Amino acid sequence: MPGRKVGVLALQGAVALHQRALADAGASPRAVRAAAELDEVEALVIPGGESTTMSMLLESSGLFDPVGERIADGMPVFGTCAGMILLASDILDGRPDQRSWAAIDVDVRRNAFGRQVDSFEADLPVAEIAGDPFHAVFIRAPVVERAGDGVDVLASVGDRPVLARQGRVLVSSFHPELTADGRLHRYFLEEVA
Ligand code: GLN
Repeated sequence: MPGRKVGVLALQGAVALHQRALADAGASPRAVRAAAELDEVEALVIPGGESTTMSMLLESSGLFDPVGERIADGMPVFGTCAGMILLASDILDGRPDQRSWAAIDVDVRRNAFGRQVDSFEADLPVAEIAGDPFHAVFIRAPVVERAGDGVDVLASVGDRPVLARQGRVLVSSFHPELTADGRLHRYFLEEVA
């Protein structure tokens, strides 16, 4: 039986590895670059990359508003790193023309995870995911500076949320597609979507 059609926004960034992780988890992944491709999918992954560039490309491709409308209609989304920034209610240290869908009630600051470290890795216990801690890779990751009452924090580094969910919106400040551990993609498909 073919899996459910899950899109990966493919304007820029870490697309292919998300598609592989989704396929390994039993879904049927599609690259989404245009509104017609968005219409074909029932859930969407917004990958890591550069949120300012993605915001610009979302505008020029005409996808910003259609994606926002699908999210408002309840389409499940999983935003990783730059994808988390694009889903946040407020972006600190963003570019003035950078936009976000305000799909999850968190404020994020770009590129501010411990000022000295550009990138790092950490083993994180994750609420709702059984077994070993999740090995998380952070690359110029966004910091969550505020999470609203309706947001469930599923993992943190110190007191900073790095994996959070509000309804059908899941966000991580790290890159789950960069390791072979498929548990987060499965969690998205089985529990969120
Ligand atoms: N720092 C990037 C941004 O602001 C995000 C980095 C990433 O996605 N790995 O968009």
